[in-house]
Amino acid sequence: MNRTVAFIGLGHMGGPMAANLVKAGYRVRGHDLATAALDIAAEAGVEPASSVQAVEDADVVITMLPAGRHVLGLYDEILDAARPGTLFVDCSTIDVADARSAHERATAAGMRTLDAPVSGGVVGAEAATLTFMTGGEAADFATARPLLEAMGRKVVHCGGAGAGQAAKICNNMILGVSMIAVSEAFVLGESLGLSHQALYEVASTASGQCWALSVNCPVPGPVPTSPANRDYRPGFAAALMAKDLGLAANAAKAGRVQAELGLRAAELYASYAEHAGTAEDFSGIVRTIREQSGEQA
Ligand code: NAD
Repeated sequence: MNRTVAFIGLGHMGGPMAANLVKAGYRVRGHDLATAALDIAAEAGVEPASSVQAVEDADVVITMLPAGRHVLGLYDEILDAARPGTLFVDCSTIDVADARSAHERATAAGMRTLDAPVSGGVVGAEAATLTFMTGGEAADFATARPLLEAMGRKVVHCGGAGAGQAAKICNNMILGVSMIAVSEAFVLGESLGLSHQALYEVASTASGQCWALSVNCPVPGPVPTSPANRDYRPGFAAALMAKDLGLAANAAKAGRVQAELGLRAAELYASYAEHAGTAEDFSGIVRTIREQSGEQA
């Protein structure tokens, strides 16, 4: 039962996730538009197939694609080919509205569905230590759970359709805003003659404590494992933070939510990611804040 998995989207995240399912004993038939991605997955034991072939005899269909338009486009291609009752699990990070459309289309075609975006990055995908945030029916979550546990360390059922995507973008909105706040505080401290270490020692044990400070500290020194100590190599790339904040901003605007800091963070990260892209960790925004402060002085 649920031993045959179709895995579509075998990129940086999907490739190692599919490989972990093979290791856990699942039969995985995979598809990707990029031949190189398919070849790497095949070396890990994934059976290459077209998207339609992959889903025909699958118990579960997992997708790990760049954006909502890719997921919805693919669902239109493959829903008719799957057996009714097949469980569709979308692990991509996409717009909440697109996730709900995907649920509706799949349900209308007689399928079961979950949205199940992840955090933990490529390192977590390779080590099978991802966190899955899922949305959908409790029974479908129970079916998917062993499969998700083969790819991750923490699996949370957040609620109905779209709730996994909602949890992901709300969490990353906190992260984006707090990274900017921490970075601004360090640059302000510099201008006041305060050492990085002194600010860190106070704030990390006082009310300023947060993940952006105590794990991913944006200045080199206080937290030796943070990306700032390796010239801001990711980590969590600036472009991915910009994408997630864009999704949060869309949802805030659609719901008329007064998220002023979230919207401003989306603008700042969109601008920062134009040059930082996927090459820099999102904590590198501290350098832009420092440079722009210098310009204004
Ligand atoms: P990626 O670009 O490396 O992989 C996406 C893959 O999908 C590519 O190989 C592409 O060829 C393939 N693809 C696109 N359209 C397709 C289609 N119609 N049929 C088959 N294959 C198709 O991206 P990634 O870094 O693996 O990210 C995937 C998703 O995971 C994104 O939604 C991203 O936001 C999310 N995510 C990424 C990270 C990260 O650290 N990379 C962390 C958390 C979440």
